[in-house]
Amino acid sequence: MLETQESTVEINLSNLKNNLSFLRSKLNSDTKVMAVVKASAYGSDSVIISNFLEQEKIDYLAVAYCSEGVFLRKSGIKIPILVMHPQIGDFKEIIDFNLEPSIYSFRILNSFFEALKTDSEYPFQIKFNTGLNRLGFSEDEITKLVKSLNGKHPKFIFSHLGASDEKDKGFTNSQIKKFLSISDKFDLLIKKVTKKHLLNTSGILNFPDYQFDMVRSGIGLYGFGNDERFRNSLKPTISLKTVVSQIHEINKGEYVGYNKGYKAVEKSKIATLPIGHADGINRSCGHGKVKVLINDTSVPTIGNICMDMLMVDISNINCKEGDEVIIFDDKNLTAEDLGDLTNTISYEVLTSISNRIKRVIK
Ligand SMILES: *Cc1c(COP(=O)(O)O)cnc(C)c1O
Repeated sequence: MLETQESTVEINLSNLKNNLSFLRSKLNSDTKVMAVVKASAYGSDSVIISNFLEQEKIDYLAVAYCSEGVFLRKSGIKIPILVMHPQIGDFKEIIDFNLEPSIYSFRILNSFFEALKTDSEYPFQIKFNTGLNRLGFSEDEITKLVKSLNGKHPKFIFSHLGASDEKDKGFTNSQIKKFLSISDKFDLLIKKVTKKHLLNTSGILNFPDYQFDMVRSGIGLYGFGNDERFRNSLKPTISLKTVVSQIHEINKGEYVGYNKGYKAVEKSKIATLPIGHADGINRSCGHGKVKVLINDTSVPTIGNICMDMLMVDISNINCKEGDEVIIFDDKNLTAEDLGDLTNTISYEVLTSISNRIKRVIK
């Protein structure tokens, strides 16, 4: 492994493999796994992750938008890809690139069928709303939906849980109940048993009885289970590292950064790092809210985070220009810890990493 020479996202494929086998250990041997690789595979690199998972015999990939699926196809990914949130202008591309759309409303269904013309076998899935109230057909639309399908059968029907990570299981249980009732009605009307999926990562960990035919995992593959209990089993896949660009010695009373964000209380040593709020290091990480690791010692940010840089106080440590800096990794401070410190969640910390940062496989 070359030493870090610039800001870098490191993708740890053995951690990814560990997480996939941990999740699979919660499942029956015939339950399919869909890996969610939307948003550049949660801020990492959707092609690196998808290629690896394809080799690991993952069954399905899922992206949010059509362009993400087209990008994977153009990069040579062959396995089925679900597009969870297609828009009406997308269906020609979806079909040209052999992507599987999630049909979540009559408006979307109509434009899909228009684009399909005579192909009655083209694969698609149907999304039902069971309480998240975000996307999907409602239970009372089933009769009209089955009529509109006009003999076509979805490969899967699915829904999405809104609070599967919560200790209070009441809301999830009501969603499960609704999903079961919807799928019974749907199958009865369409006269066929339709395959289904419901669980995201926290669903797999907390409600494995409802794994049905497939599960969808995003954050779990990237190493987080939304719960302390899984901290030792799941291993963060994505690390963010940078370097010390320049060191300044400043005197008592001097300022650092925009708007005189920091004032030295004594003679100090300051390091500038080439990563800023445009790279996903939110401004709320400034003023010592977050510490980064240099040569095994954590040092606080000082002043305001700039767009492309941030400064840390290195008065008390030994370090030189060019030394490696760890923002988060799988051991010290994780993306989840960083989220806790800055009032957000691992999902947002990861997906905020800008695409101008280099990605490397570890
Ligand atoms: C993003 C997403 C997932 C993945 O959820 P995780 O909590 O990351 O496992 C699953 N299903 C849908 C519909 C999603 O939008």
